[in-house]
Amino acid sequence: MSDPTPTTCMRCAVGCGHLQHPADIGHGIDLVSGDVNHPVSRGLACQRGIEESADPDGEWLTQPLVRENGDLLATTWDVALGRVARTFRDALDRCRDAVAVLGSGQQTNEAAYALGKLARGGFGTRHYDANTTLCMASAVTAYYDAFGSDAPPPTYNDIPDADVHVVWGANPAVAHPVMFRWITESAEDGDLVVVDPVETRSALAADRHVALDPGTDLALARGVLARVVERGDVDESFVERATVGFPELRDSLPEAAAAADAAGVDVGTLDALATAFTRRTLCYWGMGVNQSTQGTATAGALVDLCLATGNLRPGSGPFSLTGQANSMGTRVCSSKGTWPGQRGFADPNERRVVAEAWDVPVDRLPDDPGPGPVGVVDAIADGPVEAVWTVATNPVAGLPDASAARERLDDAFLVVQDAFRTETVEHADVVLPAATWGESEGTTTNMERRVSRVRAATGVPSGVRTDLEIVQAVGEGVVPGLFEGKSPEAVFEELAALTAGTPADLSGMSYDRLDAEGAVRWPAPDATSAGGYRYHHEDDGTERWDVPTSSGRARFSTASHDGLAEPTDGAFPLTLTTGREPDGYNTGVRSRGEDAPERPRARVHPSTLAAHGDDLAVESRRATVPVRLDADDAVPEGTVWLPIHHPRTNELTLPATDPRSDEPNYKQCAVRLVPAADRADASVTGRAPGDD
Ligand code: SF4
Repeated sequence: MSDPTPTTCMRCAVGCGHLQHPADIGHGIDLVSGDVNHPVSRGLACQRGIEESADPDGEWLTQPLVRENGDLLATTWDVALGRVARTFRDALDRCRDAVAVLGSGQQTNEAAYALGKLARGGFGTRHYDANTTLCMASAVTAYYDAFGSDAPPPTYNDIPDADVHVVWGANPAVAHPVMFRWITESAEDGDLVVVDPVETRSALAADRHVALDPGTDLALARGVLARVVERGDVDESFVERATVGFPELRDSLPEAAAAADAAGVDVGTLDALATAFTRRTLCYWGMGVNQSTQGTATAGALVDLCLATGNLRPGSGPFSLTGQANSMGTRVCSSKGTWPGQRGFADPNERRVVAEAWDVPVDRLPDDPGPGPVGVVDAIADGPVEAVWTVATNPVAGLPDASAARERLDDAFLVVQDAFRTETVEHADVVLPAATWGESEGTTTNMERRVSRVRAATGVPSGVRTDLEIVQAVGEGVVPGLFEGKSPEAVFEELAALTAGTPADLSGMSYDRLDAEGAVRWPAPDATSAGGYRYHHEDDGTERWDVPTSSGRARFSTASHDGLAEPTDGAFPLTLTTGREPDGYNTGVRSRGEDAPERPRARVHPSTLAAHGDDLAVESRRATVPVRLDADDAVPEGTVWLPIHHPRTNELTLPATDPRSDEPNYKQCAVRLVPAADRADASVTGRAPGDD
């Protein structure tokens, strides 16, 4: 067997080191194991990451395809790229916002940076976003609001030092298994509190499970803040020295009993959470918080809880959990919501720096970051978008109200770049087959800001090209001269240089340094520095905080609970909530085997099941989806739980978005259970391929 190649797992954002053994046939991975030398994981790895790296499910794309007379037919790269370039050029001649680009948190930093450079600096389109907005954007917006910079203040190094771990609207036992192991190990000498309407695996492992009503996280967080204030648990010294806006927060807080009532808990539960935050507490949150029309406000309230109790020092703090492997890198590199390095999108000086670095006219850079993925697809119907290019993302299954999104994408010239035959491929006009994990060189950035190398353990199969090669080839066809065929290392050097002096400074990193050290955390402004806990400093035993806001202090927020985006009523009396199954990521493209169930598995409380038959469909105002129904008392009464990664689930979900972050409200909408035979086949529109 060949020597293994050290690389980084590209499944989730924990960022474990893997050793990949190539197959002897020239491409493919034979064996994957944890890498004991990787500084993040020291040999740990989870089964999902190993299996999806070594032997992913899904039908591989092996050659370019073009649609002819309704069918996708094999073609050459020249034909496929020529059709893309001609169509993009024609559309851009009419309007530079006419070409939309949807990227992914699964790309390397290099590919994500190149895609952003092409979309923003080459095409000049405002219709550019990534699937990271579908899961992380609310946390990002809350971090900017509070600290003037995105990314968690704490790192993994803080996990062993925390006394209390509060996991809010997240299920890391399933989503981030290696990290959850660190959390539970630390909690052996402390406490683990899980806040979630559903009794998840994380909740089962907790010392306390707070089962709030679905969609009431902001009411609960604000109620806890009210009790922190009433009980005198505010860290007055920290608030005085390091924050602004506390009086406004205090004046805006609800009456605690009313907040508890809104969240479906008692005041004693508020007190238990308030007590937790009086100790050294890490507060983690995930999509249960972010995927809401009030996601930014809720994430902000969790940050407020940390600030009010002085939990902004090592061993504590607000720690958003990132899903996809390179969501963080996409946020730093890809010119989506900020320019590389968190340079302000609207700042004239920053725009000039970026335009000069890319050698493009500054007025080609769009002046607003765009409407988010839902708005991008809407702009096919009611805006200028004529062509859409998706890269390592599956909007036909992944966007809310997926049937409507699919119909809109059918009206555009759709270019799909992916390694696997997804639902979106079936609607494409051109398909560009991309290399995947183990076949590409580059870097990735995990959720605690650590950049590490992604290496090719095996060759790229014949007929397939890397993401970076494809982006550069499309760029050459539409905007010649933007890239000059740079290698991944040269692209990283260009990216790192552009981040110099910014809050997310990568300029002290190089491939040589990453090879030598294994992983380096940003900010790293020179060749020996690396980031640690953000904002907190200690000089001769004296603490100080330095936050990149205009005041140098962290900012409190004041938003209050506003109810569900689509509340239940007499016609739709149940609340749908969505969550992750253990093997589910990115619409399950790499984990859905041939025998994957055609109907999603809906979990309901036994009392809900008893009130209905068993051949059922879930119906929302947007679609009807047949399901397999399981009784499960982990799910609260009146709630229907569906796996977010089943390709049918998002036909039901609500396309409303958070007005600040553009993140969709995937987590709650109003549904009812109906007999499948009577309603489903007649009502479902645009069924996903493969379903009967
Ligand atoms: S925890 Fe995440 S990064 Fe680590 S091996 Fe599992 S999937 Fe990969």
